[in-house]
Amino acid sequence: MKPRLFTPGPTTVPEDTLLELAKPVTYHRAAEAKAILAEVSEDLKYVFQTAQPVFTLTCSGTGGMEAAVSNSLAAGEKAVLCTAGRWGERWRGILKAFGATIVPVEVPYGKAVTHDMLANALTANPDTKVVFTTLSETSTGVGHDLQAFGRVVAKTDALLAVDGISGIGAMECRMDAWGLDLVVTGSQKALMMPPGLAFISASEKAWKKIDATPVRSFYLDIRRYKKSLAESDTPFTPGNTLIKAQRVSLKRIRAEGIENLWARHTRIATACRAGVEAMGLKLFAEKPNSALTVIKVPDGVDGTATLKALEKKYGYKFADGQDAMKGQIWRLSHMGYTDAFDVLGALSALELTLLDSGFKLEVGAGVAAFQKAYAAGK
Ligand SMILES: *Cc1c(COP(=O)(O)O)cnc(C)c1O
Repeated sequence: MKPRLFTPGPTTVPEDTLLELAKPVTYHRAAEAKAILAEVSEDLKYVFQTAQPVFTLTCSGTGGMEAAVSNSLAAGEKAVLCTAGRWGERWRGILKAFGATIVPVEVPYGKAVTHDMLANALTANPDTKVVFTTLSETSTGVGHDLQAFGRVVAKTDALLAVDGISGIGAMECRMDAWGLDLVVTGSQKALMMPPGLAFISASEKAWKKIDATPVRSFYLDIRRYKKSLAESDTPFTPGNTLIKAQRVSLKRIRAEGIENLWARHTRIATACRAGVEAMGLKLFAEKPNSALTVIKVPDGVDGTATLKALEKKYGYKFADGQDAMKGQIWRLSHMGYTDAFDVLGALSALELTLLDSGFKLEVGAGVAAFQKAYAAGK
């Protein structure tokens, strides 16, 4: 059986990137290592759509989120927290650990926070220092309108911090043009890499606040990374093997072109949603994003057992809902190194699995709808 990974992190890694990982380990302070870090940092600026430096941290995405919190907020300072799912809750956990005063702007799972809700929270809390939000809420499939959020926050003294893990590289996001102040992502979602690296960048507005904030973390103090990166270096031993591999995947993104890459994700996501609906299934997210499709488990179907059967019989690994959502949704990633035919195969396997379990559907309906929508999306 051929294993096929469709979880929204980690995602499938291209062959040339995997081969890079198989090469001998090299010294991380050598001239070659510095040249590679410099190149990766430039390509990351392109991916983030920023003129600011992007720092590479050796940790998972959450480490990047923790860097955003610990560098921008002093203890007790006020943060508006936009929560639409589990990853908004991850921000909350970090904010609590760092003693922030949290103003929650919360919507039920499946819904999106609107810019009006954010504007109202900022009007009621003019002493807010940072707004925390999520580009792609990977737990529900919702995408947030960060361009609108950026316009709202730019009118205030507050910063806008974005968890772009799974979103960056899968959906349009322009850090500088949209006024995003702190942007974080991780290697293992849309950036076509295994887990292990996080990336963070800060706007000029953010740097003013960071430089005025007491140091609250040693390893994740991004002032250190800024100083080192000016010399194409890192303050601590980086995951240099991963950085070399990330270079290969970033070159792939460069070659495709970021706008083409966004368009590819939109086209596949649109076709996938059409396929799902043609199978008689419902989408979970009110405002779906292009990184993944989240499907409601239909009544009378055991969601967790279906995913197990899908993997066992056909090799397709989707993700279940997390925590309270377990058994209620299926999450199908189409970010990164995934093409239309990969997703077409996944829908086909889901149709067959549902058919096996007695669910009534017309075989091929989802596949045909995908093809039609994909053809129309040219
Ligand atoms: C995967 C994910 C995270 C968690 O990242 P880790 O690498 O597991 O620490 C955070 N936020 C979002 C939106 C994610 O998709």
